[in-house]
Amino acid sequence: MGMAADTIEQKIDYKEISCQSCGSNLLVEPQMLTAICPYCASPSIIQRPPSENLPTPTFTIGFVVTQDRAIEAVSSWIGRSSVFAKSAFRKAAPELTRGVYLPAYLYNAVANSDYRADIGENYTETETYTTTDSNGKTVTRTRTVVKTEWRSLQGQHCCYILDVVVTASKGVTNEALEAVEPFDLRALRRFTPAMISGWLAEEPSRTQDECFQFAHGEALDKVGSQLKGFMPGDSYRNLQYETDVARESIDLVLFPIWSLAVRYDESKPPLQILVNGQTGRVGGKVPISPVKVSIAVGMVLLILVVGALLFGMAR
Ligand SMILES: [Zn+2]
Repeated sequence: MGMAADTIEQKIDYKEISCQSCGSNLLVEPQMLTAICPYCASPSIIQRPPSENLPTPTFTIGFVVTQDRAIEAVSSWIGRSSVFAKSAFRKAAPELTRGVYLPAYLYNAVANSDYRADIGENYTETETYTTTDSNGKTVTRTRTVVKTEWRSLQGQHCCYILDVVVTASKGVTNEALEAVEPFDLRALRRFTPAMISGWLAEEPSRTQDECFQFAHGEALDKVGSQLKGFMPGDSYRNLQYETDVARESIDLVLFPIWSLAVRYDESKPPLQILVNGQTGRVGGKVPISPVKVSIAVGMVLLILVVGALLFGMAR
């Protein structure tokens, strides 16, 4: 940061457009003006005046996966998807897969935690008990039981929270982005406008503050799961901790993403398939047709009933 807010448009003549359906803010070169949104396939694209005070990306990762490879990946992903979803994809045209530089924040921090918990250590004991044997007599026997001894433990734990990626686009949720992660961050390059020339790019449509809060929350969750893995003994209970997050940094990065959006039903949200433009990893949520699922469930029940009847007759 620290650079002028309009750096992204400095050298290239960009048009700024907005999707009124998902809220994404795209930058396009005039010759590649698009009529539908690459994230949600909505045709409600409007041109808007240049936005001000937007953060300039710090880093970017270049596209490695070509459009042909992305189309191939999308096609075979559709081919592999559940039969319930197939009909929803009938309108899908994988050749409409568009490359977009997606804005996301990269968050790093150090977390120091004070924790306390009860740690359980298991041990075995032999105990005697009385029972009635097969002749109806009362007898005394022994058995081995596992018991737990609890002791309290407290201490400090320090860990790095590395490379939490949080979407800055309203067109792509964190869940959708996570489905195509990870990115190899060794390929991060300092952003220059020339790097995204010839591509669709997006300006952050979520505020840095909103993304920061989300990343901070995710960091605390990570600390929680690290602490759970860190607990000694056979079991633990009453784990409590206070975490102080320090040295937080947040950088805006443009990630290479291929996106195919399909509107298969006007009354339903669009289907979105994303491809990681660096690794080719595909992610998307498959719509399930309730009618087809009920038919399938019905078939399974029918088979079970017929099977049970046959089994019954065979006996
Ligand atoms: Zn959209």
